[in-house]
Amino acid sequence: MADTEDEEAYRTFLAERSERIHEKIQEALEKAGRGDEKITLAAVSKTVGPEEVALAWQEGYRVFAENRPQELRRKLEALEGNPSMAGVRFDMIGNFQTNKVNMVVGKVGLIQSVSSVHLAETISKHSLARNLVSKVLLEVNVSGEQSKSGFSPDELRASMDTLQGMAGIQIEGLMTMAPAHDPDAARRTFSGLRELAEELRARTALRLPELSCGMSDDFPIALEEGSTLIRLGRVVFSPDYELM
Ligand SMILES: *Cc1c(COP(=O)(O)O)cnc(C)c1O
Repeated sequence: MADTEDEEAYRTFLAERSERIHEKIQEALEKAGRGDEKITLAAVSKTVGPEEVALAWQEGYRVFAENRPQELRRKLEALEGNPSMAGVRFDMIGNFQTNKVNMVVGKVGLIQSVSSVHLAETISKHSLARNLVSKVLLEVNVSGEQSKSGFSPDELRASMDTLQGMAGIQIEGLMTMAPAHDPDAARRTFSGLRELAEELRARTALRLPELSCGMSDDFPIALEEGSTLIRLGRVVFSPDYELM
């Protein structure tokens, strides 16, 4: 950000946008009969710098999310020296190589993108070695699109016993991404995630309280279908993004 005038304009944008996002969230929750529920909004900061994150924090955002370990580290290092941001939470929402796991374990609130048994095992080992428990979500490719990562629903069903038994990780729920530009397919994806979670709750000892789904284009639909955690990037940070 170039100068204080730009910073003020951006701050105003963030504040006004945040208010409209919260109105939309409340509207969708009420529509679904969930008006008294609290959901988590993770502001996806992958396209902005630490300065924008700090401004968003001042406007009330408390949870941020990054999709690359290197960028996560950059943001954490940049914000470390900011005492007013103590307690900031970053989540990991992107796929990462197992050799980057030490850049993530112990640094984030929730690892939302556990997409294989191998990755879960690696996180488990690293967490145990450091005497901590990593909270994770299992990423599911509900829509079956080739381009999407995550367990297929059948793979997840077959892996649940193995995953449940792993020490050092605490499975908090499921995460998915919907197909872009197709509201009906998005709705089917979100309801499919909810139904899969219900099935797994009945079959395992896990509570699976979190359903992470919904992005800028589809968060109202996700909330109508039971999302407890939405991941919003462009709608939060980009003045060019139009919120309908
Ligand atoms: C980038 C990203 C988002 C946010 O997407 P927007 O459309 O900008 O809201 C959410 N989830 C994941 C996994 C992402 O990579």
